[in-house]
Formats: sequence, structure tokens, C-alpha cells
Amino acid sequence: MDDCIFCKIINKEIPCNKVYEDDAFIVFHDIHPKAKVHVLVVPKTHIVSLNELQTHDQPMLGQLMLLLPTIAAQLGLNNGFRTVINTGKEGGQEVNHLHVHILGGRLMLFK
Ligand code: 5GP
Ligand code: ZN
Repeated sequence: MDDCIFCKIINKEIPCNKVYEDDAFIVFHDIHPKAKVHVLVVPKTHIVSLNELQTHDQPMLGQLMLLLPTIAAQLGLNNGFRTVINTGKEGGQEVNHLHVHILGGRLMLFK
């Protein structure tokens, strides 16, 4: 997608502070971290949100779930971490390219 900031990061058109990359995913630090550690795990395929997922995305989603604890361990989040997926306007989604937030390094209380 031409006007998608995460596609631009994936295509190296704009820089990021990368922590991991493979054929299917890129992981980089959030530009406005909400915790000591705050990274975004982004599939390289442009999928807008959970609402746009299709059955053929299932293998990618399985890979994504398995990648989350691997990245958390790589970042030293040995006492746990939070994952967040915001979906749509009322879900607080700002960037319309599916991504999972990994947050940690402090006690992640909801209130
Ligand atoms: P959302 O609200 O869509 O779930 O989260 C989008 C996240 O992307 C926000 O936490 C925001 O700080 C982060 N973000 C937006 N633009 C950029 C960018 O250009 N670079 C990086 N590294 N993070 C970004
Ligand atoms: Zn995109």
C-alpha cells in the first residue's frame, strides 16, 4: 500500500529501530513507547486489521503467535509481557496495517 507507513518501513523507504526481520515479519521499536520496552510485530503482507483476515492467513497468524514469545525473550522480558492488537477506530487503531504491540519492562496493569 502506497500510503501505509508500515509498508514504507517494510520497504525501507523510511527508517525504523529494527529488532528482528525475516521473510514474513518485521519487528521494530514503537516511535512513542508506552513502556520501557514497546515493539511492534508487523506482518509484511498489507492486511488492514483483524477484520480483514481471511482463511488463507491462518499459517501466517500461527507463525505470528509463535514469534511473540521469541521476540519477548530476545528483549529480555523474562518476567512477562503484554500483547495488544488494536482494531478499527473505536479499538484505537492508528496505523491501518495489522500489527501486534509487545509491551514490557514494567508491571502492565490495566488501570
Ligand atoms: P495502533 O494504535 O495502530 O495499534 O498503533 C500504532 C503504533 O505505531 C503507535 O503506538 C505509534 O506510536 C506507532 N507508530 C506510528 N508511526 C510510526 C513510525 O513511523 N515508526 C514507528 N516506529 N512507530 C510508529
Ligand atoms: Zn501496509
